[in-house]
Amino acid sequence: MKKLAIIGFGPRGLHALEMLFLELSKKNKSDIEVHIFENEDELGAGQVWNTKQSTVNWTNITVRALRNLEGRPEINFENLTIPAFPSYINSLSAEEQEALKHLPDQFPPRRDIGKYLKERAQSIVEILQKHKLVKLHKTFVTQIKCVDTIFELVDLTGATYKSDEVLLTIGHQPTKLSEDLTSFEVDSLESNKTFFSETYPIYKIIKSDATSKSKNIAIRGFGLAMIDAVRALTIEKGGRFEISNKNTFASKFITSKNVAEKIIPYSLDGLPMVPKPLNEEIDHQFIPSKKQKERFKNVVLKYANGKLKAENANFLKELFAEIGVAVYNRLENKIECSDSSENLIKTLLMWFENQKHKHECLLNTERNTISLLTNYVSMAANEIEISLDFCVGQVIRHLQPTLYAAFSHAAVEDSLFADVIQFDELMKRYSYGPPIKSMQQLIALYEAQILDFRFVDDPKITAHKDYWRFEKGDARLNCEVVINSVLSAPKLLEVTTPLIMNLLNDDLLQPVHSKLGIETNSDATIVLDDENREIPIAVLGRLAKGSVIGVDAILECFGPRIKDWAKGFVDRL
Ligand SMILES: Cc1cc2nc3c(=O)[nH]c(=O)nc-3n(C[C@H](O)[C@H](O)[C@H](O)COP(=O)(O)OP(=O)(O)OC[C@H]3O[C@@H](n4cnc5c(N)ncnc54)[C@H](O)[C@@H]3O)c2cc1C
Repeated sequence: MKKLAIIGFGPRGLHALEMLFLELSKKNKSDIEVHIFENEDELGAGQVWNTKQSTVNWTNITVRALRNLEGRPEINFENLTIPAFPSYINSLSAEEQEALKHLPDQFPPRRDIGKYLKERAQSIVEILQKHKLVKLHKTFVTQIKCVDTIFELVDLTGATYKSDEVLLTIGHQPTKLSEDLTSFEVDSLESNKTFFSETYPIYKIIKSDATSKSKNIAIRGFGLAMIDAVRALTIEKGGRFEISNKNTFASKFITSKNVAEKIIPYSLDGLPMVPKPLNEEIDHQFIPSKKQKERFKNVVLKYANGKLKAENANFLKELFAEIGVAVYNRLENKIECSDSSENLIKTLLMWFENQKHKHECLLNTERNTISLLTNYVSMAANEIEISLDFCVGQVIRHLQPTLYAAFSHAAVEDSLFADVIQFDELMKRYSYGPPIKSMQQLIALYEAQILDFRFVDDPKITAHKDYWRFEKGDARLNCEVVINSVLSAPKLLEVTTPLIMNLLNDDLLQPVHSKLGIETNSDATIVLDDENREIPIAVLGRLAKGSVIGVDAILECFGPRIKDWAKGFVDRL
């Protein structure tokens, strides 16, 4: 009997279990016992998709894109049947599915997707538990030791568990606080100021007295989590948005006594997120043709396989620019200019290097923030001419799944990988853009004079006894609360969780790793320092180099990497 430990049972752990039993049934193999280690109550959902979180936490993925979250087929394993489970779309009611055809794109609250994941997890775990094929351990694992060829897992209480193989699907891990965050933390301990070092779980912000009583609140970061934090500080404090235009979600904010007078977001460049197109029809015009997608894939694959060599991500930028301009040229509603395609490609390549680069077809980022927001929203609703940057951002979003599939685990130098990740991160302002509705809420809060953009671009911050002072130009504001909404980058060497620190330090297990993550084989097993040793620990997701490029997303959790791991595991049986 082979014992497998799955540590972490969020979406990836869930899909790994599904793929494992599918593979076992195909290969007619059995004699296995799976031990699941998960500290959260909700299997399959984890913290990110927890079903009890506030509805102010939205996904940035449309229900339309969730069509790609496929269901599970019926699995017949020995004398038991694991029932099929529908795809996300098919799990919606008939009315909800019908509405999708007519309404603007929908972005469900994260907890709605969590409900789907939790039910999907229950539908497989319960039956496997009943047949003693799965055992659940509601605990937090802190160490994996290797004793002869057996693993010994240690949890927070010091209890130990034995297993023959380990799969780590533990998702995003906390890292050391950066210098500025550490000083916020230290300052807040010494006075009446309040600092939240992270946005989630968001109930901490919602329940806090400080966020109800403070006059001014600053939010570090200008991305998606900032928008959730803003909703927590407004909707969850008794305010409400009244939609004045059902087609574009233009809204008005009605405040309440517990809402702060001013909320000030800030970031290093002050550039806002760019909303996704309002609906399928508008979005459709940014989809590259089949031929363009095919060419993109073939070229990226050549670089990923080492057939073509590159020192940096320029090859990718050139491909994006070329396809972006071709798509731009065929748009009916765009900023017209007399430049040739060749010049527009050059313009984009310069813009990739510096998003403040100016050209008549690019939206000038020197405009003030509210003007940028309203322009982006109008473009997303196809109400004004589309700019070249908006177009290429959407094109990149559509090519991203192909890039991720072709480039993950690419046989390339770390420096090239890092450059591709950096570029992906740079473009996430567009490719991971929020719904229009979120941006309309920000505009409504600006009009209600609550959201204040004067400090958005790298303000000077000084700590005082009861507040932090924010300054930019002539403007000054004292904030009693600061919320960090920037999710730390997945820097492996700065992870603070004992399980990972122990794994990296342990002489017996020492995996090969770099700043980009733990090196893994294509079946997700880790590559060890000692080339002559193979050890059956596998890592999937955020911590594995190349398993996730740039930003992680729910669809990646149900992708081919998980299947590759399951095949590898079953082959070793
Ligand atoms: C704040 C936030 C918001 C996000 N929003 C979106 C979004 O809107 N859309 C989107 O597509 N993606 C989003 N993501 C990306 C998200 O990471 C993936 O969608 C997905 O949740 C990754 O799944 P996972 O199973 O790899 O990791 P996770 O979902 O993080 O699950 C890991 C699980 O492992 C458990 N665990 C960790 N360590 C241990 C341990 N030592 N012992 C036992 N159990 C452990 C955790 O409790 C958790 O349940 C978001 C991520 C974060 C952090």
